[in-house]
Amino acid sequence: MRNSRPSLIRPATFPESLSSPVVTPLSPSVVYASDSPDELDAQYEGRAQGYTYAREGHPNADVLAARLDAMEGVQGGIVTGSGMAAVSAVMMGLLKAGDHVVGGDQLYGRSLRLMTQDLPRLGIATTLADPTDAASLAAAIRRETRMILVEVVSNPTLRVADMDGLARLARERGVLLVVDNTFTTPRAYRPFEAGADIVIHSVTKLLAGHSDVTLGYAVARDADLQKAIYDFAVTTGLTPSPFDCWLAERGLATFDLRFERAQQSAAALADHLATLPGVARVLYPMREDHPDAARARALLGDQGCNMVSFELAGGRAAANAFTRAAQGLAFAPTLGDVGTTLSHPASSSHRAMDPAARAALGMSEGFFRVSVGLEDIDALRAVFTEAVAAAQAA
Ligand SMILES: *Cc1c(COP(=O)(O)O)cnc(C)c1O
Repeated sequence: MRNSRPSLIRPATFPESLSSPVVTPLSPSVVYASDSPDELDAQYEGRAQGYTYAREGHPNADVLAARLDAMEGVQGGIVTGSGMAAVSAVMMGLLKAGDHVVGGDQLYGRSLRLMTQDLPRLGIATTLADPTDAASLAAAIRRETRMILVEVVSNPTLRVADMDGLARLARERGVLLVVDNTFTTPRAYRPFEAGADIVIHSVTKLLAGHSDVTLGYAVARDADLQKAIYDFAVTTGLTPSPFDCWLAERGLATFDLRFERAQQSAAALADHLATLPGVARVLYPMREDHPDAARARALLGDQGCNMVSFELAGGRAAANAFTRAAQGLAFAPTLGDVGTTLSHPASSSHRAMDPAARAALGMSEGFFRVSVGLEDIDALRAVFTEAVAAAQAA
């Protein structure tokens, strides 16, 4: 990188060093100064690489995007200010009034809101369908359908989508298959290898992993689609902060280790919960008693996921007693942190849902979703044993 030019207001130049920094430098500069209009021409015309204005791109976003590209086995992805910014850039950058989209019926809450409220307001029709059954989703496809948006493992019921069936369907019907790979991560599932056209991540979650940034990522295999996603993100200002990108890159350095450990602990915790009196039901995709166990094994191999859901007998009173007794675990609506977090869908992510519809999905007042972190597994087992006992006593 070139030294900053001396200026009247910021006279200091950066000290020269023959040796280079080991850690990626943080570049908070919003603007980049050029030597001359000729040099700017060279940049804009692609004859020289360079930055102009941070909303259009900056080094820390590009360094992070390149690392995420490598993980997904693709090129040209962009980092956005949040996972929802990535979802929005893909949908609103590629769809137009008159188009139709089919979405999974258990998408992330704000993705569902985009599908059911915002897109229809802009003239884009949407239908929600069950992604675990490609045949039933096929019935929702129309002549104007342009896109299918699914998550591989749903939140919080941890159902596994029929990804192979959906990829076949998308190919046969000429529809873009968009995969939100947040829960599964490229370590457990690689959507492009399975036939996806576009991949989205909330980098906020497992990839960055420390609950100190919100970031997203979107990448299309096709360069023209990617250009449209990029232009929409730049125009509407979905740009990430350099510091957030820098932090996420630091988090990513330990991602493989964190994921490995968290999913192993999740599998062990799921088995432990299933032995506790007071736990009515455990959901973990890699357990034999999960409705999608065979598919989970086929798609996720031995990786599984770090999420476990379970149902306490005893409703809201048991739920209150459980979170109060679960000392050392954050009762907080996020996932993928280094620490284990508990989420209670009925009072948070799914509170707006009609209670009957919620019950139909199996989310009673006793239903919890656990994002398993990096704590010692014996310590985790002990906390859950104690908190479930407290819930039973309530
Ligand atoms: C959290 C999440 C999002 C949204 O990401 P933000 O970074 O919070 O905007 C999208 N999809 C899934 C599956 C998520 O878990």
